[in-house]
Amino acid sequence: MRKAVVVLGAGVGGLSAAIHARLKGHDVLVLEQREVPGGKAASISTHGFRLDPGPSIIILPEVYEAVFKAAGRKMSDYLQFVRLDPITRVFFEGQEAIDLPGDRQGCERLVSSFGAKDGENFKAMFERFDKIVPLVHETIFDHPIDQWWQFASPKFIKMGLGMSLQGNYRQQIDKWFESPLFRAFFYGFPSYSGQSLDGTGAGALFIPYFMIAGGVFYPVGGVGQIPSALYKLATELGVEFRFNTKVTRLNVTNGQVKSATLESGEQVEFQTLISNLDRTTVQGMLGTPSSNAPSFSYFTLHYGLPRTFPDLKHHSLFIPKNYVQSFEDLYDARNFPGEPIVYVNETTELDPEGAPPGTSNFFAVVTCPAEEQHLDWKTLQSKAKGQTRSVLKKFGIDLSEPIFERVQTPMTFRERDGNYRGSLYGEDEKHRPFKGMLPHPNRDPKIKNLIYCGGSVQPGAGLPMVTLGGKFAANLI
Ligand SMILES: Cc1cc2nc3c(=O)[nH]c(=O)nc-3n(C[C@H](O)[C@H](O)[C@H](O)COP(=O)(O)OP(=O)(O)OC[C@H]3O[C@@H](n4cnc5c(N)ncnc54)[C@H](O)[C@@H]3O)c2cc1C
Repeated sequence: MRKAVVVLGAGVGGLSAAIHARLKGHDVLVLEQREVPGGKAASISTHGFRLDPGPSIIILPEVYEAVFKAAGRKMSDYLQFVRLDPITRVFFEGQEAIDLPGDRQGCERLVSSFGAKDGENFKAMFERFDKIVPLVHETIFDHPIDQWWQFASPKFIKMGLGMSLQGNYRQQIDKWFESPLFRAFFYGFPSYSGQSLDGTGAGALFIPYFMIAGGVFYPVGGVGQIPSALYKLATELGVEFRFNTKVTRLNVTNGQVKSATLESGEQVEFQTLISNLDRTTVQGMLGTPSSNAPSFSYFTLHYGLPRTFPDLKHHSLFIPKNYVQSFEDLYDARNFPGEPIVYVNETTELDPEGAPPGTSNFFAVVTCPAEEQHLDWKTLQSKAKGQTRSVLKKFGIDLSEPIFERVQTPMTFRERDGNYRGSLYGEDEKHRPFKGMLPHPNRDPKIKNLIYCGGSVQPGAGLPMVTLGGKFAANLI
């Protein structure tokens, strides 16, 4: 039977696309190769622990609220969030740990305590963003951008002027902040949207702005509750799901993608395909493989440990003294940093049910290059593990005698999720349209009934963005 809309992949982007397409009255079928929905955000259980092996810093809950509202539901009936305070505990080598407060005024006071100039610049930066963010909501968070002329709208021009930096991102941060701790904190953000420190736009600062001005949250029951809640809503609305169903080929006739061939050999026909699978991977399936460099990825170590860590907070950041070298290794040499900055998510304080009593659920994440030409992740994996563990050891973290160990590398994201060369953001920024300012648009340039959602297309990666991207995709049907 020919379906109106098939969504390839039940990641958060695909779930959002399926819900919004269904709300527009379409008959929707989701094909997902795994046995569960959620993609990277799906939780897993092992050894009596519940793990969230992907996203953990949760911002902008209003984005999910809008999905439930669009369906005439109350989000709180499906999904609840707790606001975190502090946002994160920062361990800078050789200094006392500091807590980044969960409110803006508290953060302003903290930054000022490191130097009056840093404090004034921090305040000015946030005030500037207060003016830009409403414009962002009305433009890049509202609809896809696929034509240059869209940049000529008065809102875009105003936003662009507000976002332009004096020099590149790194120079601007160095100008604003003298404190190494805040420089190190801010240097990390471009990589979270697949950008570099040389970029000349302030887009990477949206994440810390939303974290500090809007708050960081934890979904009750774990991050996996976000896709679970969206899946529940989708099924209530009548979206059909087929799990354990891998798409191996897309069949194009007369410039239209007409059907998907499944691993079993079965063909599923449709009028429109929304791909939650990475855009560059799909281009490869359609016969135009890319050789462009990939953007960034993550290396993760997940441990169940037979001890607790009372000094850690839900989010902790470990910054070695030599952080500048660490960022140069990552951004300039595209290597796994010799001494990486390690972010740790330890959930047991907030969520004791996620781990047996007296243990900890310890998740370490390092931003890293994806499968670059000069890197072989098969051999790099053990070196990356050693380097990550040795930074944590410096800070007195005891990772011995783990109950389990779970490692993810860019190879995991390529093999399991279909990400282009294991990158979370598709091709690197040099190969993106609009001089790298934005990810690729959501509609395929050649095949008009092929639309993309997810981390490799607009408005970008990260759970709130892929949720918005799902809506963009449905609006393009
Ligand atoms: C370690 C890590 C930490 C992160 N931290 C954060 C964070 O703190 N905050 C945040 O907001 N974001 C974070 N992210 C990013 C966030 O997880 C992603 O941007 C988001 O989950 C991507 O969602 P998606 O819908 O694009 O795709 P995915 O989650 O990748 O889903 C794609 C789906 O498509 C399915 N699929 C693929 N190929 C096929 C096929 N051939 N046939 C059928 N199905 C297929 C896959 O099985 C998968 O379910 C993190 C990611 C990682 C990996």
